[in-house]
Amino acid sequence: MVHNLLLFVRSRGSAPQRHRRIGTTRIIEEFSLDTPKNSAKSDELVPMRAMLAGARRKEPALLTQIQSLVRAESPSDHKAAVDACGAVIAAQVGALLGRIKLHRQRAFGDVIEARFGPRRSKGSDGPILLLGHIDTVWPVGTLKTMPCRVSDGRLWGPGALDMKAGVAMALTAIEMLVEASLLDREIVLLLNSDEEVGSPVSRPITERLAEESSAVYVLEPAQGLAYKTARKGTGDWRIDIKGVAAHAGVDFSKGASALRELASVVETVSGWTDLKRGLTVSVGRAGGGSKTNVIPAEAWAEVDVRIARKADGPRIERKFAALKPVDRRCSIKVTGGINRPPMERTRGTVVLYRRARALAAELGVVLDEAATGGASDGNFTSALGIPTLDGMGAVGEGAHAQHESILLEHLAPRTALLAGMLTR
Ligand SMILES: [Zn+2]
Repeated sequence: MVHNLLLFVRSRGSAPQRHRRIGTTRIIEEFSLDTPKNSAKSDELVPMRAMLAGARRKEPALLTQIQSLVRAESPSDHKAAVDACGAVIAAQVGALLGRIKLHRQRAFGDVIEARFGPRRSKGSDGPILLLGHIDTVWPVGTLKTMPCRVSDGRLWGPGALDMKAGVAMALTAIEMLVEASLLDREIVLLLNSDEEVGSPVSRPITERLAEESSAVYVLEPAQGLAYKTARKGTGDWRIDIKGVAAHAGVDFSKGASALRELASVVETVSGWTDLKRGLTVSVGRAGGGSKTNVIPAEAWAEVDVRIARKADGPRIERKFAALKPVDRRCSIKVTGGINRPPMERTRGTVVLYRRARALAAELGVVLDEAATGGASDGNFTSALGIPTLDGMGAVGEGAHAQHESILLEHLAPRTALLAGMLTR
């Protein structure tokens, strides 16, 4: 609905005045009741400056919220801890009158689905799906060595950037829209608990909700300052090789070295890398053998594969399946596959990005787009053909690293931008 976007149309003469609350301060604005003929025009009318002012007023509360989430440590493999973090969020959702549904999990934290704004009516556009995760890669107790603190213009702490700040920004953006009566479509916030381990239980939930949505905004960190419009798909393989053990001195010819075979396999699979296609194959871990004087009977390797094009998935899967030993006395067992399809830069995603860029420009911010080799849950939604824009969370550095931190100067503008993107 367009009429709520009209706040900032400066009218001539005797247009009515309306009081609106954005943030904690009452803003008095003039506005026109005229309805624009085409909705493309309405984009210019998203009150981005007021959004930014509102976000700035919310900043202290937002900072407190991020800190409370970071202090609720929530590693993927610790259900109780993740659920405790989820409870902090559920309380905030309740305060915003969101409709919450918990998807109970046994092995992982419960997945949180929260709906805001008017329920979708038949025939209207699908909701916007805000996608995030509350699990982190950091074990409970990390705060002792990586305390949550604010210094040097940053907020530091485990999971701050990836992605508790993004979650708090989303809740703040929704709060701003609720308070300004600008929430005129349904928004679904889906926060899972298993993203950092590949989203095994949340993937079907994410896909089902994405299919009913008209767009997906992913709250992962920005790439530098950019939103992400493309991500590579990922695959993992494990290769196990069996050879024939023998005394390296006495029975050398009777042995068949699994490690030598492995060396050949490593060369073969690494050779499938095609940088121009955005296809990389990297053997990340390997091992084998028992004693120096024994011809090794066993060897193994674990392989990371990234693809930029969907079509490369089946191609690379066929290649792994067809691996044959050079030494026929050895055998090769291959397990694994592509687990996240690539998020390709689709037309729908570009439309979302262009809108974000236009809204950012009104704040004097140049918003670039970027492609990344890392995957997120946005890969799943994009592969279903749902326009997906990623990297809409915090700006910072050091995800999964000791120096994980967010840059405070970007907190308010990015939250305002997120709020702007949720209008319409
Ligand atoms: Zn993440």
